[in-house]
Amino acid sequence: GKRILLTAHPDGMPDETHLRLESMPIPQPGSGEVLLRTVYLSLDPYMRGRMNPGKSYAQPVELGAPMVGGTVCEVMESHRDGFAEGDLVLAATGWQTHALSDGSGLRKLDPKAAPITTALGVMGMPGLTAYVGLFDHGRPQPGETVVVSAAAGAVGQVVGQIAKLKGCRVVGIAGAADKCAYVVEELGFDAAVNYRASDFAEQLAKACAEGVDVYFENVGGAVFDAVLPLMNDFGRIPVCGRIAHYNNAAASGGVEGGASPLVRTMGLVLVRRLTLRGFIVSDHADRLDDFLRDMGGWLRSGQLRYREDLVQGLDSAIDAFQGLLEGRNRGKLLVQVGAD
Ligand code: NDP
Repeated sequence: GKRILLTAHPDGMPDETHLRLESMPIPQPGSGEVLLRTVYLSLDPYMRGRMNPGKSYAQPVELGAPMVGGTVCEVMESHRDGFAEGDLVLAATGWQTHALSDGSGLRKLDPKAAPITTALGVMGMPGLTAYVGLFDHGRPQPGETVVVSAAAGAVGQVVGQIAKLKGCRVVGIAGAADKCAYVVEELGFDAAVNYRASDFAEQLAKACAEGVDVYFENVGGAVFDAVLPLMNDFGRIPVCGRIAHYNNAAASGGVEGGASPLVRTMGLVLVRRLTLRGFIVSDHADRLDDFLRDMGGWLRSGQLRYREDLVQGLDSAIDAFQGLLEGRNRGKLLVQVGAD
């Protein structure tokens, strides 16, 4: 087998000097344990935060330990009631080809209910993030304008589509022309703007002629600065992520890097009575049943579509993860892990 360990805290973009691929013996399951083989590993932006030393909302990965991550695994050998060889499970076994489990935290997957990859994407953590962030924190009303950044990604593509299902006008922000075209032409967003364009702020203002009622914040930085002045009174900003700052966090002692026009920002928050609400998907397990029911229905009826970006082999994980932080992925990024 193989695994990838965190060997140093990156200061900037993580690479092979911080993440080491190594061989490992395939572990032997003891009594009460199952041996899992990774079929899919999810790569997600939060992993960059786990590479930093300080505690954020979750414990950092310790140096020398395998990187954490959500996985879809196949049970290879079971010494535990309730699990049989060949079962497919949602797990969190991290960046490795094999792992042992005592069954805790495993969720069995039914490949007939939905493709198993969706358990890591549209029907999994990113989908739940979109669902609770938009519906519980964004509280969109029919006819309102919803803007979402990182719009073509795992979370953003769901946010925009379920906002459309609620009768909103949806404007996506993404960093490539093909991503903008994808969300408008294939997902039904009303408009999309490329934040790399030199006249991005003007284009965004034009696309949001009636202002912005809900901004689903995934990015921070210059994108946040461009959206904020467009917010309508009583607008809501579910602050989901700040990916533009993730590679700067360590350099600034765990605080997000980059100069912040904090005075202007807080002035607007007060005068326009905005709600900025941070949230973490793991606090919302109580919404899992509603989420699975609604999202499963929309998926089966074809009202909800999704895109996945599959790379082959655990050896590709580091390069693919760099791509995630640079915008090379096209949809939910997954590693298809072979029988290494
Ligand atoms: P994506 O599939 O959207 O992939 C990341 C995307 O971020 C890239 O493709 C890129 O798209 C964009 N990006 C990267 N760097 C920058 C930058 N400097 N400025 C602007 N955009 C950038 O990832 P996810 O959908 O999984 O995650 C989206 C956000 O949601 C992240 O911020 C993540 O941390 C957050 N999140 C938060 C959770 C919570 O519980 N609060 C749970 C899950 C996710 P582009 O080409 O458009 O730049």
